[in-house]
Amino acid sequence: MRLLWLRNDLRLDDHAGWQRLAEYQGTTAAVFILPAHWRQADDAGLHRLGTARVAYLQQALADLRERLAPFSLTLLEGEPVKLLLDWHRQQPFELVTHAAQAPEETDWLTRLQDAGVTVRTVETQPLFEPHQVEPLFETFPASFTGFRKLVEKAPAWPVSAPQSAIEVSGLRAAACPLTTGIHWPATPGAPAHPAWQGGETAARGWLQHYLFEQRALAHYKASRNDLIGRYFSSHLSAALAWGCLSPRTVWHQVLDYEQRWGSDEHSYWLRFELLWREYFHWSLRVHGTRLFAAGGLTGKAVPGVFNAAYWQAWCNARTGWPMIDAGLKELITTGFCSNRLRQNLASCLMHELGLDWRLGARFFEQHLVDFDVASNWGNWAYIAGAGHDPRQGRHFNPHRQWRQYDPKLTHLHQWLPELGPVTLEQVERHQRGEQLLDYPAPLVPLEC
Ligand SMILES: Cc1cc2nc3c(=O)[nH]c(=O)nc-3n(C[C@H](O)[C@H](O)[C@H](O)COP(=O)(O)OP(=O)(O)OC[C@H]3O[C@@H](n4cnc5c(N)ncnc54)[C@H](O)[C@@H]3O)c2cc1C
Repeated sequence: MRLLWLRNDLRLDDHAGWQRLAEYQGTTAAVFILPAHWRQADDAGLHRLGTARVAYLQQALADLRERLAPFSLTLLEGEPVKLLLDWHRQQPFELVTHAAQAPEETDWLTRLQDAGVTVRTVETQPLFEPHQVEPLFETFPASFTGFRKLVEKAPAWPVSAPQSAIEVSGLRAAACPLTTGIHWPATPGAPAHPAWQGGETAARGWLQHYLFEQRALAHYKASRNDLIGRYFSSHLSAALAWGCLSPRTVWHQVLDYEQRWGSDEHSYWLRFELLWREYFHWSLRVHGTRLFAAGGLTGKAVPGVFNAAYWQAWCNARTGWPMIDAGLKELITTGFCSNRLRQNLASCLMHELGLDWRLGARFFEQHLVDFDVASNWGNWAYIAGAGHDPRQGRHFNPHRQWRQYDPKLTHLHQWLPELGPVTLEQVERHQRGEQLLDYPAPLVPLEC
């Protein structure tokens, strides 16, 4: 028997794992396992199943099951290695699954192999296959620009076309001998944005709408730093993170868009951002667990302590900086906030509050609907000066940022309506420590 283990590659299209099942002569099955420890809170009170993530995942699995019927996708919950070994004992199989990204995935695959399971990995998350890019990495490029220039002139270029979905009716299904099912926590109703409707069907619909009906790509480079709005950026991140769309599909749809309406700086820039994602993915492959240490990839000491009062205020979105609290509220409520806000949240957590940057990364991991281990930890490390930033870290000035990206405080008014019609100047003065607003005083006055 051949078993496909899906994790964050919840789609049928452009998926080498399904191809491996289709070419197999014997019986086949597919499984998704919700790791039980994702529910458990750690020492900082954080877990990995924030409301938006659960909702997206649940919808993505339901959509995939519908697309696969009558072939079934088995759902299990528990310790993945234990469950797979139980199954293997009762019904031996060869396991097909996507290559490990997070260290815990590497650990799972190693333990399965050590226990005698044949594991064949496929690539479902990156734009490139290892054989296309690994020869380029004699020394892994220290900066994104170095990486981008390498791949853009490499023989692997351009990105190969996505493969079409297999005919599932041709698969011969094997039943699962274990007790199946996932006990889902309660999830809210409709998502805050159409792109947060989970699953491949909705993701393909959103991509079409964004590119070809709305043609929002026409202003992408100019609007991608905004804080609010339905179309300021592509909102494709959750679909990519859960693998409901492959990056190659997005890439080639952008090429189709360029065929129809011509290429420009905006269409190029979306592909440029996909290369950032690619860079962080290959960096994690190369550097592994080093990314998660306090000193990150640099190994240098990065200051950061634990302050319970600051941490509590952060988790409750009550830091006393209205700009930051509005961003935290959006993140906690919807599972998303813009890239510009993420940068400012990260900078404030580590540089103003002096908290350990890894605490912030774990906080994002709980809440982000689009949590992606390489992109999240790569970006946090970058801002902390523990990653790939040639300038060794970023310290943002929120006042300058809001003057540039949201001078009318549209985002703040949406997420902190209780503040009433305050002006940018009043908010800045409050954040500097003058108790101007009917709002908690800042934990630390902003010196900017
Ligand atoms: C502290 C911090 C944490 C982050 N955590 C994540 C995360 O867990 N998951 C995640 O997908 N992105 C993360 N990002 C990157 C970026 O903020 C999001 O990808 C982006 O905001 C998602 O919105 P979008 O799809 O509209 O992006 P767009 O601007 O439309 O970009 C298109 C796609 O390119 C990729 N991309 C864009 N910017 C980046 C970037 N800086 N790094 C890596 N990939 C990028 C994403 O896949 C995104 O969907 C993080 C950024 C910061 C500063």
